[in-house]
Amino acid sequence: MFEPRTVKTTCPYCGVGCGVLATRRADGTVDITGDPDHPANFGRLCSKGSALAETIDLDGRLLYPEVDGKRSTWDAALNLVAGKFSDAIRNYGPHSVAFYVSGQLLSEDYYVANKLMKGFIGSANIDTNSRLCMASTVAGHKRAFGSDTVPGTYADLEEADLVVLVGSNLAWCHPVLYQRLAAAKERRPAMRVVLIDPRRTMTADIADLHLAIKPDGDVALFNGLLCALDDAGAIDEDYIADHTSGFAETLSAARRMMREDISELTGLSGPKISAFYDLFADREKTVTVFSQGVNQSVCGTGKVNAIINCHLATGRIGRPGMGPFSVTGQPNAMGGREVGGLANTLAAHMDIEDAASRNRVKRFWSSPVIADQPGLKAVDLFKAVGEGRIKALWIMATNPVDSMPEASAVEDALRTCPFVVISDIMADTDTIAYAHVKLPAAAWGEKDGTVTNSERRISRQRPFLPLPGDVQPDWWIVSEVAKRMGFAAGFGHTAPATIFAEHAALSAFENGGERDFDIGAHAAISQEDYASLEPFQWPAPHNERNCNERNCNEQRRNEQKCDSRFFATGAFHTADAKARFVTVAPPSKTEPSPEFPMILNTGRVRDHWHTMTRTGKSQRLSAHLAEPYAEINPVDGLRLGIRDADLVRVKSSCGEIIVRALLSKRQSENAIFVPMHWSGRFASIARVATLVPPIVDPHSGQPALKNIQVHLSRFDAAWYGFAVLRSRPENIAATYWALARCAGGWRVELGGQERSENCTGFARALFGASKDDTLLAYHDEKSGQHRYAAFDQKGLIGAFYIAANPVAVSRSWAVRQLAADMSAAAPRYRVLAGRSGADLPDPGAIVCSCYSVGINQITATLASGECQSVKDIGKALKAGTNCGSCR
Ligand code: SF4
Repeated sequence: MFEPRTVKTTCPYCGVGCGVLATRRADGTVDITGDPDHPANFGRLCSKGSALAETIDLDGRLLYPEVDGKRSTWDAALNLVAGKFSDAIRNYGPHSVAFYVSGQLLSEDYYVANKLMKGFIGSANIDTNSRLCMASTVAGHKRAFGSDTVPGTYADLEEADLVVLVGSNLAWCHPVLYQRLAAAKERRPAMRVVLIDPRRTMTADIADLHLAIKPDGDVALFNGLLCALDDAGAIDEDYIADHTSGFAETLSAARRMMREDISELTGLSGPKISAFYDLFADREKTVTVFSQGVNQSVCGTGKVNAIINCHLATGRIGRPGMGPFSVTGQPNAMGGREVGGLANTLAAHMDIEDAASRNRVKRFWSSPVIADQPGLKAVDLFKAVGEGRIKALWIMATNPVDSMPEASAVEDALRTCPFVVISDIMADTDTIAYAHVKLPAAAWGEKDGTVTNSERRISRQRPFLPLPGDVQPDWWIVSEVAKRMGFAAGFGHTAPATIFAEHAALSAFENGGERDFDIGAHAAISQEDYASLEPFQWPAPHNERNCNERNCNEQRRNEQKCDSRFFATGAFHTADAKARFVTVAPPSKTEPSPEFPMILNTGRVRDHWHTMTRTGKSQRLSAHLAEPYAEINPVDGLRLGIRDADLVRVKSSCGEIIVRALLSKRQSENAIFVPMHWSGRFASIARVATLVPPIVDPHSGQPALKNIQVHLSRFDAAWYGFAVLRSRPENIAATYWALARCAGGWRVELGGQERSENCTGFARALFGASKDDTLLAYHDEKSGQHRYAAFDQKGLIGAFYIAANPVAVSRSWAVRQLAADMSAAAPRYRVLAGRSGADLPDPGAIVCSCYSVGINQITATLASGECQSVKDIGKALKAGTNCGSCR
């Protein structure tokens, strides 16, 4: 008999790294809850984490290896991959091959991929999609600290008197960390929060001060802050003297800028700048949290160092409630850094450009070679593919055709690459279409290994589902290819535990404390201990007290007994153990382009993850924002003749997209925001990466995804459409379409410049209806309205509404008709009319995804007078009582 079993694992989405309890029941369903013992989330989960069970079915999964589109055996596929890579290396040298990997990989997968490329193939042509996420932080940390070290912990955000959020929409992108911060602020109202972001995001709701900075104005702002701290006598002269070098030069360079220059470069008024500087000067316990708004920039590394300079100058680092704090986007971006998964790093935080480090790693691995120079970083890597310099490319667990800058050029490059291997969980991504060999990889729930979150905490991802079909874990796939390339001695791993032990042993190998990353305490870990490994923060050196905070609680943290912080007393990983002040200049001013006069900012929405291959499966998550959009300031809308819900065309020098207009005062003027998630699987022409030019930060190689010159105009749609469908349509003959899952099927938004002569045929194709099904239709040629509804014995097959303006049918009501009883005539005609009827109140657009609560329900509850606050609404409707992201 099947015994339900609860497994402790970790969420696969953002860098907060929340602990999850997954319980598989006898009927195959899975319950997901937050792990109350996990020190990252103490039981909380956001909307994405809460909906994990809706994303683990086998629909759309790649279950068997394929070669040239035909099912293959593992043996044949692996032999082919090993043979093609070996041939390319033999004929063109080791730098003719490349791996492009992912922050979705577990550390064990990452470790073997990096080992194969750098230690056995002998090239460093392995880069990762984390290059797009936090490479500027890595470069900034190394320049300042001599190592890629995050000095603090999440508890610091709760203990701080001032939390400065720079380029971080924490409320949507790291929701549980945001909830921890919001709860701390509620407990201690004297705490202050400053948000520095061009947009007034949801995070602004807890901010005492929002600085709507001009894109890339951060260096100027923090250089000015350094001067202001000096003027206010807030610098820590002892710390500067004992533990740093270069302060005088950096301060003197920063002083060359006048306050007027700062206003000009940041777009902020003098009083606002002063208010921020005063808050920072007055509060010793200050944490500066930064994220993609800092990293994804031509001057991302400079921004990181400008922030760190202020913390070094005040000695506010490595002590409770103080420090610069980078939060990573991906679940295992940190693990990737630890294993050396970037093209310019070596394993275990060692330096690829240091001969002694290379020699050490080579000896440890007993490898035949070691890469002796940095490899191609992501943008250059795909450029090399396009130029024919890469003869064999292996992409693992990522979708560069949708996420890389100049996405269309990446597509062209893959099309011409002689040999492309793709390991993925999904059979139908925009990237996998270009694979010669497809390798089915294990998904979350099936995988077994570790991940590291943004506060250096290593947690286990444990399997609770069997491997379906012929699926295998990534570490196994890479090891099998390595063996077939003649490297069996280095890749005899039989389980992730042995890989983790090797990774831990390497971190401690010849490490007398010179290197920050040391988890040597686990170098001899057994299978049993690995199976029960509790979350722990590094460093965890051999024979020393391991800061394992599994029993950490509020009280303990308040007693400041946590010792897993770096640099309170210096001990930086530089030759003289001193940190470096790095002099950074603001980027030179760019003139607005007459052709592309607006600025595009890209980023995440609350309920989707990356290119939606998983979150796109969840109807709850898809209900929050069901189509791609551009957030536009109403002043720009008026100027450009764009109304709310119009379709708009966004063009850059690289390409164009069409998305929905969302007018919002949260967006600053002359700028727009478009989310990064919509791929060719979910929309016809909305991949925002096609607009991004391949411009990178010179130090980190990270692309500038936040400050793109674009042209915005109304898309002159001759017709708009909306449909709910029981089945996903195959081909949609419309210029614009966007698909989203909904209860019982799919919802589709459509639009085009020319309406089909045969609307009825179009509707039938959309429904996939047969001649035997009942089709109701309504036409009003004068107003351009056409409505269709198709029924069979089971109920509604689909409803399709066409209008000359954006269709004004309640989406949530229409979706519910897919499951409604349609046996009588009245509900059928109601569907055709697109109106709910007074007896069927419409919940409105979904606000709370966790409990599917709509805006109309909330409005009605407020109007009834029963509720006065968000808390009351939570009591009445449950809205906002789970993840709290909608509060
Ligand atoms: Fe997952 Fe949400 Fe936690 Fe991030 S904040 S790890 S997405 S549950």
